Amino acid sequence: MSGERASTIAVVPVREATLPPGGAETVAEAGGVALLAGDGAGEAADRLRGSARLLLVWESRTFQPGTWARALSGACAAADLVLLPACPDGRDLAPRLAARLGRPLLAGAVRVGPGYAVLPRDGDRHAVRVGITGPAVVTLRPGVGGAAPVRPEARCAVRRIRSDGRAPDPGEARVVEVRAPEPAAADLAEADRLVVGGAGLMGGPDGGAAAFADLAEVARGLGASLGGTRAAAEAGLVAPERRVGATGVRVSPGLHIAVGVSGAPRYLAGTGDPAHVVAVDRDPGTPMMATADLGLVTDAPGMLAALARMLRDGTVRDSRWPVDGAPFPEQAAGGAPPTRASGARTPVDPAGDG
Ligand SMILES: Cc1cc2nc3c(=O)[nH]c(=O)nc-3n(C[C@H](O)[C@H](O)[C@H](O)COP(=O)(O)OP(=O)(O)OC[C@H]3O[C@@H](n4cnc5c(N)ncnc54)[C@H](O)[C@@H]3O)c2cc1C
Repeated sequence: MSGERASTIAVVPVREATLPPGGAETVAEAGGVALLAGDGAGEAADRLRGSARLLLVWESRTFQPGTWARALSGACAAADLVLLPACPDGRDLAPRLAARLGRPLLAGAVRVGPGYAVLPRDGDRHAVRVGITGPAVVTLRPGVGGAAPVRPEARCAVRRIRSDGRAPDPGEARVVEVRAPEPAAADLAEADRLVVGGAGLMGGPDGGAAAFADLAEVARGLGASLGGTRAAAEAGLVAPERRVGATGVRVSPGLHIAVGVSGAPRYLAGTGDPAHVVAVDRDPGTPMMATADLGLVTDAPGMLAALARMLRDGTVRDSRWPVDGAPFPEQAAGGAPPTRASGARTPVDPAGDG
């Protein structure tokens, strides 16, 4: 199979008629041929019509990866490559599907091409090109590709797959409860609010440990996920899988707060197009400031310590800022340090009268 484009199908788990992160990209990567499985799969298929060629639809109220793998393996068997998004449900389903199909699984690829996949290794420090010489199952990391453009006039066939009607296997894992993820620990690629720390927090005698502890507390207070630049990840202040950027996790949050981050091209290349960007830096001339809606020119560790203290003692009562294109409140509750800049993309000095 190496060297030629294999026949490919995307298998995308759906919940409440919504595709998971990376779902549309995986369909695009499979050339618009996909099997959508789950609760509201038919509705999700309707929304993909303009960007897909062939959609197989399998409705199932509850996610049960073992039962799903058994039910779906027949529909995927003819494709050489089975691609799934490396979202939580995709990561649960893929190994079971691979086992059912008797194929190798290549997990968390950042690229798939004719006869190969590129897999990150060693905490994303290296990318390894692995040959695909036969039928395989591959999960794709969300955010590394792009969804196909929607062409309303495009023709798309939709076929329903019926359930095999068999009861779940005894001993099969069951979903007991679905809980919202803890934002600070949630997958960065899925985060709607993101707080990122950079080398500007690492100047203290402890190398930035206290500033990053404050950063984590502020992120928790804002209901945001926590990430770091490459500098912060290499210093061990954030886990390697929480490094943001072109060669780290590609993110697309609604709100991106960058603290002590210069905004190097390799960093900005992985940060998508957020609705709101806040930059905190002592230098008003950084590229990060140039991309920000709100720029705070200040000592970042000092600001974080003050903000963490205010969150702890309740001075900041409602720290949930609106996202998704909504405007910032005129003033954060209780006079919190981040106040709205009068003009977009204008740095302000919180110590001054701006
Ligand atoms: C092949 C390659 C791939 C790369 N991939 C990535 C990637 O995926 N992600 C990534 O992040 N980087 C990546 N990099 C590295 C990237 O080029 C930058 O070096 C890195 O992003 C810089 O991180 P930083 O912003 O934390 O540090 P710096 O660029 O050093 O910026 C620190 C900022 O903090 C400010 N500052 C300093 N002290 C204070 C203070 N007391 N208060 C407030 N502000 C302060 C400074 O003014 C500065 O703006 C890559 C590089 C290469 C060569």
